[in-house]
Amino acid sequence: MKKTAGQDRSITAKWRPATRAIRGGTWRSDMGETSEAIFMTSGYSYDDAASVAARFAGEEQGMTYSRLQNPTVQMLEERIALLEGAPACRVQASGMAAMTAALLCQLSAGDHVVAAKAAFGSCRWLVDNLLPRFGIEGTVVDSRDVDAWDRAIKPNTKVFFFETPANPTLDIVDLERVCAIAKQEAITTVVDNAFATSALQRPMDFGADVVAYSATKMMDGQGRVLAGAVCGSEDFINNKLLPFQRNTGPNLSPFNAWVVLKGMETLDLRIRRQSENAMTVGRFLEGRVPKMLHPGLESHPQHALAMKQMKDCGPIFSIVLDGGREQAHALLDGLELIDISNNIGDSRSLMCHPASTTHHSVGAEAREDMGVPEGMLRLNVGLEDPDDLIEDLDRALTAAGL
Ligand SMILES: *Cc1c(COP(=O)(O)O)cnc(C)c1O
Repeated sequence: MKKTAGQDRSITAKWRPATRAIRGGTWRSDMGETSEAIFMTSGYSYDDAASVAARFAGEEQGMTYSRLQNPTVQMLEERIALLEGAPACRVQASGMAAMTAALLCQLSAGDHVVAAKAAFGSCRWLVDNLLPRFGIEGTVVDSRDVDAWDRAIKPNTKVFFFETPANPTLDIVDLERVCAIAKQEAITTVVDNAFATSALQRPMDFGADVVAYSATKMMDGQGRVLAGAVCGSEDFINNKLLPFQRNTGPNLSPFNAWVVLKGMETLDLRIRRQSENAMTVGRFLEGRVPKMLHPGLESHPQHALAMKQMKDCGPIFSIVLDGGREQAHALLDGLELIDISNNIGDSRSLMCHPASTTHHSVGAEAREDMGVPEGMLRLNVGLEDPDDLIEDLDRALTAAGL
């Protein structure tokens, strides 16, 4: 194997993001392939017994077992780290594997977590159901309220956990101020950056410690594989995350890593065009529906903050209809082009009703509390011609009586 310039931090440090996205992290085999190779292997063989002993003792560099290292997976990890501006990154089998690892690797019984009320359903489930089973207490706060984070701190608070923008309320957390509060109390901030990705927002630039991803979304970007990633300092990744990950095994397969590597090459192009399309579609819907939650539009109460932290609005926004579940379902059933689907970050436009899908498991009371009403619909705007999307929405709105 030959490391290319993309593996040399003294060189990649000088590269701009577009170059990092194409060449960051690449290794080449003796075949000299231009595109990254897929190493579909669980194990590795050695020239002699002494060399395997040296590798296990950490005295010699090299692969030993794919739960511990795999070249295709490592190429993806380096590419994600370079784009995030993070010292290190490790990838996992899904976004939820990443979130679980990022929390459990650093928390112990007796610790306390402060988390955002509005969050992806399974992220809330971790805080509400999983962590308490292991003696880790959680407090949920309105993540938009900076002082609420401060007020929720206890002597045993170890982690702040939130998304910005949040799924599906599009709540925005003031990264700079909330991370500063955490830093003062030596609390680790874990930011789920799935909606924006490093192409639009780099939480570490605002003081975040750990950035975790569902790479299933914008990073793959074409709805093909599940993947996750955790970025952090060398110390966090090597001394906290790695011992957890290597021994519990939430690993990403080399094939899926290769798919995401390919996605990373076009992440910036896709998210910029999808953001542009989301603005066009958003402007059409504004005025046609009673309520919009769209960080790119001036009607969003945190529009200025969103645009300060993000380079663009991203492809995802929500609308709220007055007619509850019945009207929301009628709109979905009136669609011809846009798919009814609970995925996001896809190059295809997708629409879903969070209360009956992604946020079904959190229960009616928590949905009410986090701002997910029965009339809410979430839209992921894809790469189709926005005029076709507008025609489809126009038809569906009419069918739903709007
Ligand atoms: C989808 C999603 C997750 C979970 O990711 P998976 O890859 O589906 O496991 C976590 N957080 C957010 C914000 C998401 O949108």
